Amino acid sequence: MNHPVSIIRRFRQTKVVATLGPASSSPEMIRSLFEAGVDVFRLNFSHGSHEDHAARLAAIRAIEAETGRPIAVMADLQGPKLRLGVFAEGSISLTPGQTFRLDLSKEPGDTTRACLPHPEIFAALKPDTNLLLDDGKVRLRVVACSPEHAETVVIAGTKLSDRKGVNVPDVVLPLSPLTAKDRIDLAYALDLGVDWIALSFVQRPEDVTEARRLVGGRAAILSKLEKPQAIHHLDEIVELSDGVMVARGDLGVEMPPEDVPVLQKRIIREARLAGKPVIVATQMLESMITAPAPTRAEASDVATAIFDGADAVMLSAETAAGAYPVEAVSMMDRIARRVEHDPLYRRIMDAQHLDPQETAADAITAAARQIAHTIKAAAIVTFTSSGSTTLRAARERPEMPILCLTASLTASRRLVLAYGVHSVHAPDIANFSEMVQQASQIAFRDGLAQEGQRLVITAGVPFGVPGSTNVLRIAWVEQPGQAAPYSHWHGQENQTPAAGK
Ligand code: PGA
Ligand code: MN
Repeated sequence: MNHPVSIIRRFRQTKVVATLGPASSSPEMIRSLFEAGVDVFRLNFSHGSHEDHAARLAAIRAIEAETGRPIAVMADLQGPKLRLGVFAEGSISLTPGQTFRLDLSKEPGDTTRACLPHPEIFAALKPDTNLLLDDGKVRLRVVACSPEHAETVVIAGTKLSDRKGVNVPDVVLPLSPLTAKDRIDLAYALDLGVDWIALSFVQRPEDVTEARRLVGGRAAILSKLEKPQAIHHLDEIVELSDGVMVARGDLGVEMPPEDVPVLQKRIIREARLAGKPVIVATQMLESMITAPAPTRAEASDVATAIFDGADAVMLSAETAAGAYPVEAVSMMDRIARRVEHDPLYRRIMDAQHLDPQETAADAITAAARQIAHTIKAAAIVTFTSSGSTTLRAARERPEMPILCLTASLTASRRLVLAYGVHSVHAPDIANFSEMVQQASQIAFRDGLAQEGQRLVITAGVPFGVPGSTNVLRIAWVEQPGQAAPYSHWHGQENQTPAAGK
């Protein structure tokens, strides 16, 4: 099958994550988004039915089978998103200074009270605690409370309506990040075979541990950082997670907006130090929900996340519910390419260079990046079974693509999220000549390298044993005499309908 070269490889190191929703559910639209540049698709379990998500996943896997390119799918669990009950009239007006009661009564609310159907919140409230409603547009302060109710005074805001969100930034709520709904959604998503599970409203390191026990290795775990409590335990949470998200939507409600850019930089730095992929999310091209071009400030925001060294930038409503989903993806692709080709970007990435850890894999990986830079290699090639060496290479933020060759379909999909990684699911190699041949053929086939260019290859000997990276090799790319035997290779692991075709 012939594919436009632009689909086979991306011309940027930063990845694009796009959320699927009503505006982007047809197989044709998902295909267009992939062609425009989406690397990772996000299924948002806060919205849509299980059948909706299953149909989207099937469309993604069909594209994968057809193009031979691994695609990562992330199931984002809603988490303990707190919401008000409903009002008799649908909405109410409020006056700052008035009192307002919250309680557990199922009665529809009025201008004096509303239902807040979460006993755990009342258990954790104290006088002077702040409650933020409707993305922070309404602020209530607790005056008095019991296990069943809270008397509050309205500090700011003039309107409330049915089922608005509630944030309680001041206290650690005794909530598991996985609600009953999340547990059902998680089991469903794991059965679908998603690659990443995103956890919303993580507060404590134990939250990640609990999720990992439930996931049981069937997907990688990404912690969304959107609570001040999570920021207090940032290094532990990063350490326990496989990746993190700067979830700026809720983070900017729970904390003052001026803290968000500072935290974004801190989180990216922390994640890169640990070698874990980090996504910057929310409102990146917000105005493109209704307009075909972004504001200058939005273009600048995407560029900033890239200059900060993020692995990926994410679209939410822009692709899930907007009028210009494909344009939003193309815009991110263009901004990423533009920034990454700027000499200042390269200087910033190199200036923030991290020391290798005292392991053979890190020593080899750091040397690989340096050699690749010195000899102007076309790509760094990592042979990996678990994907760990490839993540260490991404941590180096090299200027050339990282070709990840792995016999694990699972690893090839997960790694798509990481900086600079062009992942390919390929058969195991048995010796050095196969190693060089496979690297050269696939780099050539996928347009990462031309004949006569060089590759810097890392691998572990004996071949196929995880955690043994101990070899560095420089190889010349040769034009294969015949069609590359690895095109459309699918192992038994591939459960897609087109497997083996
Ligand atoms: P959400 O998470 O879109 O699921 O709320 C992202 C954020 O809060 O920024
Ligand atoms: Mn959120």
